[in-house]
Amino acid sequence: DPLKALLDKHVAQQSATRRGPIESLTLETLKAGLESGAIDVFFQPKVAVPDRKLIGVEALVRWRGEDGKLIPPIAFVPVIEEHGLIDEMTRQVFEKSMVASAAWQKKGLDIKVAVNFSVDSLTRYEVFDLVIAAIAKEGIDPHSVIIEVTESRIMEDVAAPLEILTRLRMKGVGLAIDDYGTGASSMQQLKRIPFTELKIDRAFVDGAPQDEEARAMLESSVSLAKKLGLSTVAEGVETQAEWDLIAELGVDVVQGYFIAKPMPSDELLAWARQNGD
Ligand code: C2E
Ligand code: CA
Ligand code: CA
Ligand code: CA
Repeated sequence: DPLKALLDKHVAQQSATRRGPIESLTLETLKAGLESGAIDVFFQPKVAVPDRKLIGVEALVRWRGEDGKLIPPIAFVPVIEEHGLIDEMTRQVFEKSMVASAAWQKKGLDIKVAVNFSVDSLTRYEVFDLVIAAIAKEGIDPHSVIIEVTESRIMEDVAAPLEILTRLRMKGVGLAIDDYGTGASSMQQLKRIPFTELKIDRAFVDGAPQDEEARAMLESSVSLAKKLGLSTVAEGVETQAEWDLIAELGVDVVQGYFIAKPMPSDELLAWARQNGD
């Protein structure tokens, strides 16, 4: 089954980057770290196709260990979730993202900022409140904020986060369905949530120039997104050949190492200038 092969590849990619769960990340160190500034946020550019104009960034959490080394999210986010600390982590990531966004705006860089949320968090009203409060505090236009939720997690129970997602959307916040293609959602389920953006999982972009099945999946994702009126983002574009194919298929936005890797907020401005934005 070719689709299964692609999904296996997705799982393999995920575990290839898996270093943990890191043993030193106990409940105590996690709590202490959350209080002492261990949470760092990097930002990865998202550019329009075909002109490469910077239109936004995705905020990606990092854990700064005592030794100063950065630990990737795959090694600690699941542990944070298990210990019930995810709302606190998300609050910090979101607030840092809004602070960064306000700083960029001040320097004339008008871009959207997307932040990843665990579906669980989006069932709690405190989380809705903290999002609205952080947006207001930094004077950000809600239309330049996007919240990303992964397809597989949301489809486990579409109803649970529906109200908060709908309320956020009514405030103007954009909603992205992340890792699309790995969650087997139906059009009916997708339509229930007022998504604005569909992010095609890296597994389908990877090798698509050579791989018929991956290409077919890309094509059907783009056509589904068009039907639902969603903007499309291709993740994990690493080569010119992948970029060319994505452009040919009519994908709106690209995020991937071919354009830029995630970077600290203060490097983004220099990157944007160099990119001509
Ligand atoms: P994601 O949301 O799918 O984020 C994209 C991931 O793909 C990032 O990994 C990014 O660095 C990586 N990436 C981007 N372009 C390329 C490329 O061209 N090639 C390759 N090989 N990789 C690329 P990262 O930062 O390690 O994040 C991994 C996952 O951790 C994210 O996947 C997301 O699910 C989760 N995550 C990150 N930040 C947060 C957060 O603040 N909250 C929550 N709940 N989850 C987060
Ligand atoms: Ca994401
Ligand atoms: Ca993704
Ligand atoms: Ca690739």
